[in-house]
Amino acid sequence: MTLYEQINHSIESHIDQYMALVKTMYEHPEIGFQEFETQKLLSHYLIEAGFETKTGVVCETDFIAEYQSQKPGPIIAFMCEYDALPEVGHGCGHNLIAGIGIAAGEALKNIADEIGGTIRVIGTPAEENFGGKVHMSKAGIFNDVDVALMVHPGTKNGVGGKSNAINPVKFEFFGKNAHGCHPQDGASALDAAVMTYIQINLLRQFVEPQTYIHGIIRDGGSAANVIPAYASMEYYFRAPTMKYALEVTDKAIACAKGACEATGTTFKTSIYECPYEDTLVNYALADMLKEKYTLLGVQNVEPVNEIGAGSTDVGSVSYVCPTIQGSIKIAEENVAGHSKELACATISEEGKLGLLNASKAIAYMACDLICQPEKLKIVKDEFIQSTSNK
Ligand SMILES: [Zn+2]
Ligand SMILES: [Zn+2]
Repeated sequence: MTLYEQINHSIESHIDQYMALVKTMYEHPEIGFQEFETQKLLSHYLIEAGFETKTGVVCETDFIAEYQSQKPGPIIAFMCEYDALPEVGHGCGHNLIAGIGIAAGEALKNIADEIGGTIRVIGTPAEENFGGKVHMSKAGIFNDVDVALMVHPGTKNGVGGKSNAINPVKFEFFGKNAHGCHPQDGASALDAAVMTYIQINLLRQFVEPQTYIHGIIRDGGSAANVIPAYASMEYYFRAPTMKYALEVTDKAIACAKGACEATGTTFKTSIYECPYEDTLVNYALADMLKEKYTLLGVQNVEPVNEIGAGSTDVGSVSYVCPTIQGSIKIAEENVAGHSKELACATISEEGKLGLLNASKAIAYMACDLICQPEKLKIVKDEFIQSTSNK
């Protein structure tokens, strides 16, 4: 059997087990940093499959499963997401990402003694809200990884692309309570918040394209006849780079300063969620994924998405090692992301086919990167080049 045939055999012979894992996660969705049962389920599978597996390495619900072959070679990581969403369960399909990562990891492990290298299956929790990969990257988990691979299910086949950096900022305003009929004795924190909100809306016209600013008023007072002494707002500042997201944040802070000056109030800001880096595209990896998808008969593969509207914690990994997050179609284009319909698609025949094709594609890539050092060099050279430009 050729190496690719061995990969196919490993994935196809275990497909029922992988789909059983996917289905269990679908039936028992757990949201970010509460994925305790999922962590148990997946790490148990990987231990049984012969991986040395640790849990709770950086985040309580993460895992790192490793198989070190007898021969030297690069370290290839397959990333597994597995956090769900409130109400829609696995409406982002992260249960299938976990299935894909485990299938690819096990296939590579089964040929690793022949081709060399170290295979890691890394469980990265809380993608949707708390940025498991941000914490894991900061803790150095990806420092020695040569390439990190992942495929996200959705409504299109693609080789991935850019994503926006995101800076989550909370504004808190401090004024002075007073009777509603003696407002002159007080200072309205709510007025400061509203003025800031309007100013930030006006700011939108003057920012670079692909910059998104969206916010809410979290606290706006407690009674109509009390001048509010406290108000707060939560914002996301998203931009193609973190540098620009921070620049826009500074402009918004200037809006708050003006509003406080006008209302006789004060304010402070804080980072209330985990900031996400933008995603650095590795075009050599994107080309490889396109080639493998084509080989597998995966059709209508979208090119690199150069305009990233959303944000992902994969961005943080992409600044530490060459990284790709491809996509695989498991549902029609009218199916919304973060929906119950997409969750259902993960356990459908399309979901199963998606798991087969996506895991084979990234397993083939890993196999090439281990067996052909010149290919790995191209990928790594591009990574060094693009990080030094930033
Ligand atoms: Zn997702
Ligand atoms: Zn999502």
